[in-house]
Amino acid sequence: MSQERLVIVGSGPAGLTAAIYTSRATLAPLVIEGTQPGGQLMITTDIENFPGFPEGISGPELMQRMRAQAERFGARFRMEDVTGVTTGNESISVVLGDEEITTDALIIATGASARYLGLESERRWRGRGVSACATCDGFFFKDKQVAVVGGGDTAAEEAIFLTHFATRVWLIHRRDELRASKYMQKLVFAQPRVELVWNSVVKEVIGEEPTGVTGLRLQDVRTGEERFLPCHGVFMAIGHDPNTGFARSVLDVDASGYIRTTPGSTKTVVPGIFAAGDCQDSVYRQAVSAAGSGCMAAIEAERFLAARGH
Ligand code: NDP
Repeated sequence: MSQERLVIVGSGPAGLTAAIYTSRATLAPLVIEGTQPGGQLMITTDIENFPGFPEGISGPELMQRMRAQAERFGARFRMEDVTGVTTGNESISVVLGDEEITTDALIIATGASARYLGLESERRWRGRGVSACATCDGFFFKDKQVAVVGGGDTAAEEAIFLTHFATRVWLIHRRDELRASKYMQKLVFAQPRVELVWNSVVKEVIGEEPTGVTGLRLQDVRTGEERFLPCHGVFMAIGHDPNTGFARSVLDVDASGYIRTTPGSTKTVVPGIFAAGDCQDSVYRQAVSAAGSGCMAAIEAERFLAARGH
């Protein structure tokens, strides 16, 4: 068992900002960056609303720069997934498989993951037409028809992005009004390759061996009528779930699994454990707000450690 002063779990904008601040404060944090480092921004092409980049910046490049900045000040990294957190007698431990690391303070910044519909057929064709990331998989659908499920900003963004490849993009929404911002709605409605399919839900993803997805069985929620929609790819864009399963036994989480923190702070119910970014924020979920809360967690962790003589 090893002993650390500060462990940061997660390497998206929240975790890396916390790493930049705490490494500059000479705390030499250990960042457990996960087996897929960088978080959700790694699957984003252009970020146009992160302050300081008037021409935009790609998600992977932004994350690579944040990581380099943290490394420059002495942050250390391990590319593994944390499987659990335990507490007792004023001690905090993170579990990585068979290994346990004890730490004086812990910042959890594990973000959130894309949600799927939960259909058996969706699982069956995952990776063979079913995806939750247009940026990653859109390229495979050149000159084909694809569908996007959802009505929020993500769905709108994915649908627009997919028009670079697909001949037609069906945007399937369960209501008759999009949740996406007015600006994104305007872009969607102006895009001739995007066709809205209102008041509809996916009942089944249909595919064929060996090619993969061939279409969807849709149901109109008002009439109950079902129909077949031909497409080769279907992108789920129905929101996200916080990655907090590994910590739920020690922390207080809300009904959706988001870690509860003291309002206006990143403090959790356990002294010395702080939570930042999308794993505790179900409202804003932006790279810049995640980075901001990572900074808050860093300052609070520093103060917590200082009060204990570190
Ligand atoms: P949202 O929660 O905003 O939207 C999810 C969408 O999926 C809703 O339209 C919802 O329908 C639909 N949905 C949820 N569950 C199901 C289901 N089981 N079956 C069918 N449809 C379902 O998530 P987003 O990922 O779109 O956005 C999350 C946050 O990130 C938002 O704050 C958004 O503004 C932000 N964001 C901002 C971007 C930008 O600024 N460029 C880009 C992407 C995201 P219903 O509307 O009926 O509830």
